[in-house]
Amino acid sequence: MKHSNIFVFIETVGKEAHHVSWELIAKAKELSKKLEGSEVWGVLLGDEHEKIIKEAFARGADKVLYVKNSELNEYINYKYKAALVDMVRKYKPEIFLIGATLEGRELAGMVATELETGLTADCTGLDIIPEKEYLAMTRPTFGGNLMATIFCPEHQPQMATVRPGVMKAIEPDYSKTGETIVENYEMPALEKLLEVIERIPIENVSNLQFAPVVVAGGNGVGGPEGFKMLKKLADLLGGEVGASRAAVKKGWIDYEYQVGQTGKTIRPIVYFACGISGAIQHTVGIKESEIIVAINKDEEAPIFKIADIGIVGDLHKIVPALIEYIEKRLKSGVKQ
Ligand SMILES: Cc1cc2nc3c(=O)[nH]c(=O)nc-3n(C[C@H](O)[C@H](O)[C@H](O)COP(=O)(O)OP(=O)(O)OC[C@H]3O[C@@H](n4cnc5c(N)ncnc54)[C@H](O)[C@@H]3O)c2cc1C
Repeated sequence: MKHSNIFVFIETVGKEAHHVSWELIAKAKELSKKLEGSEVWGVLLGDEHEKIIKEAFARGADKVLYVKNSELNEYINYKYKAALVDMVRKYKPEIFLIGATLEGRELAGMVATELETGLTADCTGLDIIPEKEYLAMTRPTFGGNLMATIFCPEHQPQMATVRPGVMKAIEPDYSKTGETIVENYEMPALEKLLEVIERIPIENVSNLQFAPVVVAGGNGVGGPEGFKMLKKLADLLGGEVGASRAAVKKGWIDYEYQVGQTGKTIRPIVYFACGISGAIQHTVGIKESEIIVAINKDEEAPIFKIADIGIVGDLHKIVPALIEYIEKRLKSGVKQ
């Protein structure tokens, strides 16, 4: 069976691409191997993104659909929707993947309703069902207690948004190239639905999703002071702090740092869970970490079931001891 293509929306942040776009291209590449004759197309909007095109090929895209119009350089939902809907109608992809960022979620809903097709939001797994050859979209539901696998067999494109950090991007290989399809896009006459008056930068933008080490704290940290201690350990290890929802709810740390189902999904090399019980809604966000270190005074805490290294004890004694040990090692010339 000859298949049509997989569209991956390349989200831009200024002149860079959002990392989730590369995660999705890598996943789409895997899926396209199971759909004979299909290709992965990165869909890029705007007219100043030549650099991103090169990276898209390096990250595994077969083609880039470059929808050129200067009005698309910044995200305006109804303009983006118009352009994407027109491109889907013209090129008829079989699957359309979008990152579940704030913008991506809004956009995917608008595009899917206009195209009258199905959309599964916030997927954590994507696969192709071998005989049927349609997309199996898996996402947590009912507060993370149930995983639902959803199909959209009769409408196209089959659309899904995927959370940043869930799929793994491939390392760029700049020797790879591909074909760029340039669409000089003429914006249709649209009623002005939205105007951006000002952009206010978010303070405290964390690097949580890309940090190699995350030192996270929960209820057991006991207050904002405890997070300063965790930050110290994170800084020593070249990492970032994270938090459970319990700590965020208490106002000890910003939501920006929340890890889990309603926070961020991360895959660091080392994850420290300090005073975190290990509720499913938390652990869904960390299960791809390479090494999980749990520090908890309750040896029955569920976090120990998924931890690679478990330390039973008071984090207010253990974390300072770790800091002291690492500082000593660093002073004696050991690299981070
Ligand atoms: C729809 C929904 C979505 C949710 N989304 C998220 C989410 O995105 N992220 C998230 O984290 N949670 C989420 N939750 C909440 C989740 O169910 C848990 O309530 C939460 O993760 C608990 O946080 P915690 O582990 O910090 O606190 P607790 O469960 O209170 O655990 C604190 C732990 O600290 C230990 N401790 C206490 N003092 C010390 C000490 N001095 N030294 C060492 N250990 C100590 C205790 O033994 C305990 O195990 C969600 C819940 C729902 C219903």
